[in-house]
Amino acid sequence: MPHHEQAPRPPDRLPIAVVDNHCHLDISRDEDPPAPFAEILDAAAQVGVDRVVQVGCDLASAAWTVTVIEQHPALLGGVAIHPNGAPALHDAGTLDDACADIERYAAHPRVRVVGETGLDYYRTGPEGVQAQQEAFRRHIEIAKRTGLALQIHDRDAHEDVLRILAEEGAPERTVLHCFSGDMSMARECVRRGYFLSFAGTVTFKNARDLRNALAVVPTEHLLVETDAPYLTPSPHRGRTNGPYLVPLTVRAMAETLNCAVPALCQALSSNSEAVYGPW
Ligand SMILES: [Zn+2]
Repeated sequence: MPHHEQAPRPPDRLPIAVVDNHCHLDISRDEDPPAPFAEILDAAAQVGVDRVVQVGCDLASAAWTVTVIEQHPALLGGVAIHPNGAPALHDAGTLDDACADIERYAAHPRVRVVGETGLDYYRTGPEGVQAQQEAFRRHIEIAKRTGLALQIHDRDAHEDVLRILAEEGAPERTVLHCFSGDMSMARECVRRGYFLSFAGTVTFKNARDLRNALAVVPTEHLLVETDAPYLTPSPHRGRTNGPYLVPLTVRAMAETLNCAVPALCQALSSNSEAVYGPW
């Protein structure tokens, strides 16, 4: 890696390869550009993370995503307008056009996800709620029309996310990305047949409620992700995240679930292929 401060040491390799089912290879946390994606994917493959879902969150990022998924067999793609981007497009009167563009990108055979879409009441204030909900409903429609999985971003909006999914009818494969709900929400998501994707947040010392939620999820509903470059797992919190750090999250999940690491890896791998299709 170039001039970055020393990156965290790679964790021990997982016994069975898993999928990082949500990351942003085009985003940098600092002023430096992100490392070349092939380098990031190599580092991940070396520790047993051999497949990655690259998520493009706006039109430029969706275009980039479609380019790179054609270049690297480890990658599948997701495309959407992020909920925090929806209000500006809505105000400019271009949300419809943007959604039409997303649907065109979604037709690419290696795009297997509509997402991340959903609601973010933390970053966007009450003035953006209407636009976010409208965009969310549009993305649900796109996922159903295209037959793709839906990845949901839900920040401080659990009730409205569940309500809108119920109102619209959720797509057949629906994933709560970076699951942040409590035990009762986890149970409700499982009851509805959704998948819950856990990120590095589940390793944080103060995340006891999240681990309690994880503990009630049957392994056939579980996925793992980085949301890289964000949400770096413990003990590297605050550093730049990458798919190569997924083993830290997987091992923390196995401990919480009281499940053997190889069995969890096997489940995470096959669940990912059930949701997104084969790589
Ligand atoms: Zn994300």
